[in-house]
Amino acid sequence: MSASSLVAEAVWKDIESTRAVTDDQLSILHFLFGKNFERATRIVDQRGIKRISGELSGRFVFQVVGESRRKEEYFCFAENYCACYSFFYDIVNRGEQLCCKHQLAARLASSLGACVEVKVSDEQLALLLSKL
Ligand SMILES: [Zn+2]
Repeated sequence: MSASSLVAEAVWKDIESTRAVTDDQLSILHFLFGKNFERATRIVDQRGIKRISGELSGRFVFQVVGESRRKEEYFCFAENYCACYSFFYDIVNRGEQLCCKHQLAARLASSLGACVEVKVSDEQLALLLSKL
């Protein structure tokens, strides 16, 4: 794990424990993620993050709304996967960023407890994940 990932991880943990973001944390996140962090906060402000979880297993995936006018939604795991184009292009192929704005939005919303919670059966969740 890179140093910046470790820093980001520590900040998320702090936010999770207080359910609030301080100015210092905001500047760190902004420093680490730049424009993507601004985009992510806009998505959180729109309540654009669903946390879809299996009733019994508690396993979950995020569904995050995009910023284009078409309002596409992307399935994503905050730590390691997003179905959007930027994830494959900027992160997997070029290794230029730590994560995309949807992953950031998911992480921020879940740290703040600001996700829209959706419960589905574990069968439905499995079916959903099998299509990723
Ligand atoms: Zn994404």
